[in-house]
Amino acid sequence: MSLQTLEDAFVEELRDVLSAEKQLIKALPKMAKGAGSDELRTAIEQHLEETRTHVERLEAVFESLELTPRAKKCEAMEGLLKEGASLLEEKAAEEVLDALIIAAAQKVEHYEIATYGTLCTWAKLLSHDAALDLLKQTLNEEEETDQKLTDLSLHINQHALEPVEEEEE
Ligand code: FE
Ligand code: FE
Repeated sequence: MSLQTLEDAFVEELRDVLSAEKQLIKALPKMAKGAGSDELRTAIEQHLEETRTHVERLEAVFESLELTPRAKKCEAMEGLLKEGASLLEEKAAEEVLDALIIAAAQKVEHYEIATYGTLCTWAKLLSHDAALDLLKQTLNEEEETDQKLTDLSLHINQHALEPVEEEEE
């Protein structure tokens, strides 16, 4: 695709984030499974549901532009998720692993926030009002998730401050 206008860039970026969201739907269940804390697991599972909505919203954005939704592999999300997956292989104390899972999840959220922030600005410039409305809703949810993870971190990661005594049978 030859990129000549901001409109072309907008569509290109939409295809990138559609891929990113679809990759996340596959990866989040593994992250949730790796979480030791019930609160963290629940937060990740809730965001998985929201992420399904993000895909639906993106499909609606494509439709509002009279385009067929088509994803283009997001290499950045692939890298973030690969790093997250390798954490889960690490031999770590449960509490420490939770801290690392939160860190990985926040990197993903910040990446999404950057992308949706750009897309909102471009939708405004291009006067794509319906698209802007949908993209803003998702941006808000990503920001709320990021904040929730910060709150969880302050609370859950307390348990990772000291080495955990290995339990003896
Ligand atoms: Fe998302
Ligand atoms: Fe997200």
